Amino acid sequence: MSKSNNPLNDPRNQAAETQLVHGGIMRSQFNETSEALYLTSGYTYPNSEHAEALFKGDIPGHNYSRFANPTVDVLLERMALLEGAEDARGFASGMAAVTAAVMSQVRADDHIVAARALFGGCRYVVEEFMPRWGVQSTLIDGRDPKNFEAAMRPNTKLVFIETPTNPTLELVDIRAVADIAHAHGARLVVDNVFATALYQKPLQLGADLVTYSATKHIDGQGRVLGGLVLGSKELIGGEVHTLLRQTGPSLSPFNAWVLLKGLETMPLRVRQMTESAVRIADFLAGHPKIARIMYPHHPSHPQYELAKRQMTAGSTLVSFEVKGGQEAAFKLGNALAVILISNNLGDAKSILSHPRTTTHQRLSEEARLESGVTPGLLRLSVGLENTDDLIKDIDYALSQV
Ligand SMILES: *Cc1c(COP(=O)(O)O)cnc(C)c1O
Repeated sequence: MSKSNNPLNDPRNQAAETQLVHGGIMRSQFNETSEALYLTSGYTYPNSEHAEALFKGDIPGHNYSRFANPTVDVLLERMALLEGAEDARGFASGMAAVTAAVMSQVRADDHIVAARALFGGCRYVVEEFMPRWGVQSTLIDGRDPKNFEAAMRPNTKLVFIETPTNPTLELVDIRAVADIAHAHGARLVVDNVFATALYQKPLQLGADLVTYSATKHIDGQGRVLGGLVLGSKELIGGEVHTLLRQTGPSLSPFNAWVLLKGLETMPLRVRQMTESAVRIADFLAGHPKIARIMYPHHPSHPQYELAKRQMTAGSTLVSFEVKGGQEAAFKLGNALAVILISNNLGDAKSILSHPRTTTHQRLSEEARLESGVTPGLLRLSVGLENTDDLIKDIDYALSQV
């Protein structure tokens, strides 16, 4: 890049699409076009004094890929730019990132408040794992901020939410919950997978940490797992870094490289998938065999106003309830030709899941119904196929119900 006074030399002046192609790049002595893949576990030092200074933290540099790798660094810088975050760390999976974000903020005798409509693994961490280590948790209905206020205790250190939620795409008011958490001296962590960093910026709405499963839209092509935690220099460079460094749930450089290439096309993919999702939501909303649809930017969404305020678009997922319960839901899934039956999301391939019998099978029926997981509920992750083909596929499958 030239060293002129062009304001675009500062990546913060670039739009997201530009940041995600160029952001954070560190070229080696060969001036390669594409990001270099540094597949190395360790690093050598020119002399002992250099090693000593590096380990002391007196000079910058890398000393071990458990917590420092140049390819991972490029990914972190690119994501931090997109998110408007001061700092970030990479993890082996979304669950490793969420677990690190939660564990970095609490210790024995602390208390966590979480919205109960959570991704299965996140709910397990908050509800089952944390109490084993002496951290109590209260799960509430996150749709009304008053429920957070009512659940706060003097020892509440963390509030954890996901919005839109899996699988019913309900929303939590990030700004309102951040204000409540901070008034009680607690921190707010937001799992931002469903909205993506393109449609929702939790840190700007008051969140302290934001987490991603990079496995989803960031890779977006079903290849690798990865996770990210982003936030202030203080929080990320402090406990989050220490946890990563000392316990090692690290992102591999190879996966980081795949995710970097995913980021280059993420805006294009997510925009196309969202356009299709909007059309599919409209199609389903008018269909006589559909009881209800769930899509944040659809006027039928009970939190439509909040969705418009908090998200710049309505996500790549559409959930809906087919009339006739589980039998009808199974018939629909089995009659599809293009859309796959699977449980991933954010992928180039469209994916239909029946949460009651898969991702939410472990919960009691009561807990499922509390989370809106009815027998006829289906979650569609809209992919990159031709939109008309997707609608034809669903239309045919519905004719078989
Ligand atoms: C997938 C997902 C996770 C977990 O991510 P993995 O990469 O599968 O470990 C966490 N939260 C949400 C909302 C997810 O969709």
